[in-house]
Amino acid sequence: MINNLNYEVIIIGGGPAGLTAGLYASRARLNSLLIEKGLVGGQIVNAERVENYPGFPEGITGFELGQLMHQQATKYGLKTVIAEATGIELEAGQKVVKTTKGNFIAKAVIIASGSERYKLGIPGENEFTGKGVSYCATCDAAFFKEQPVVVVGGGDAAITEALHLAKFASRVIVVHRRNQLRASRILQEKALAEPKIELLWNTIVEEIEGKNSVKRLKLRQVITGEKSTLEIAGIFISIGLKPNTDYLKGILPLDATGHITTDDRMETEIPGIFAAGDIRHHSARQAITAAGDGATAAIYAEKFITQ
Ligand SMILES: Cc1cc2nc3c(=O)[nH]c(=O)nc-3n(C[C@H](O)[C@H](O)[C@H](O)COP(=O)(O)OP(=O)(O)OC[C@H]3O[C@@H](n4cnc5c(N)ncnc54)[C@H](O)[C@@H]3O)c2cc1C
Repeated sequence: MINNLNYEVIIIGGGPAGLTAGLYASRARLNSLLIEKGLVGGQIVNAERVENYPGFPEGITGFELGQLMHQQATKYGLKTVIAEATGIELEAGQKVVKTTKGNFIAKAVIIASGSERYKLGIPGENEFTGKGVSYCATCDAAFFKEQPVVVVGGGDAAITEALHLAKFASRVIVVHRRNQLRASRILQEKALAEPKIELLWNTIVEEIEGKNSVKRLKLRQVITGEKSTLEIAGIFISIGLKPNTDYLKGILPLDATGHITTDDRMETEIPGIFAAGDIRHHSARQAITAAGDGATAAIYAEKFITQ
């Protein structure tokens, strides 16, 4: 067990936000530790190809992008421990980060633990993630030019995804388990006016089938129980996002959706505790915006420490 090790900056979460914060903090010669509970790289490792991260005109796999970010930060001295952060305590001006591998102490903490997309939890979903199953139309719509796709969900996010997909796909079928959408009226009007968008009410997806990529869905009408299949190339699941902030409840104020509010320096209400990336209130939820947040957080964490 590693206990009571002192750092200047501790970063929780090794996605684009945390890795960029780590790069900036370690290049500023701050003794910095990254705490990651799973695979370094964060959610972007699930992206088969990232085409909107500047500097890679031919695109790059999400896995490679995550690895390169980690290599770059490590080169400047960032240390990494694989452990889950379970809480933060304030002690005599220091921050104690509690983890499954003991406590670590720092002057400043950058929280970059991201969020997780809610999953349908149906057969085929995990198997075909990145091979036709997507949780991000902004990221993946261009891979489905002139092909039929499904969007699952009925809120603002789902309808925004459907409208974006309609610019690329041949058909966009919105599968919704209820008989009306939750999305705002203006988005509903836009969707109804878009000839490529069709709505399939009172319907759930029960299984995703394919071979190397998604080929068809097994559907069930929830009122009649009638079963059917639908041949498609892609399924975009947009049923909500859960920020990874459970371990911060009672420590930091969270908004109604569990995200962290910061000022424009990425600092939270507690001086010396910063937040960056998808975990922030109203984040644009992209790798590049997360990286930008991480850089800002590290720059102001350094100012916090030195002043
Ligand atoms: C399939 C897919 C494709 C995508 N494609 C693109 C794309 O093409 N372009 C683009 O810009 N964006 C894309 N995105 C979105 C992009 O991945 C996210 O916006 C970005 O990763 C957010 O970065 P982050 O660092 O804020 O959080 P995350 O990437 O979510 O990283 C957070 C990290 O924190 C760790 N963590 C969580 N809780 C704890 C804890 N308690 N203790 C320790 N560690 C913890 C997690 O394991 C994770 O590694 C895609 C997302 C997905 C799912």
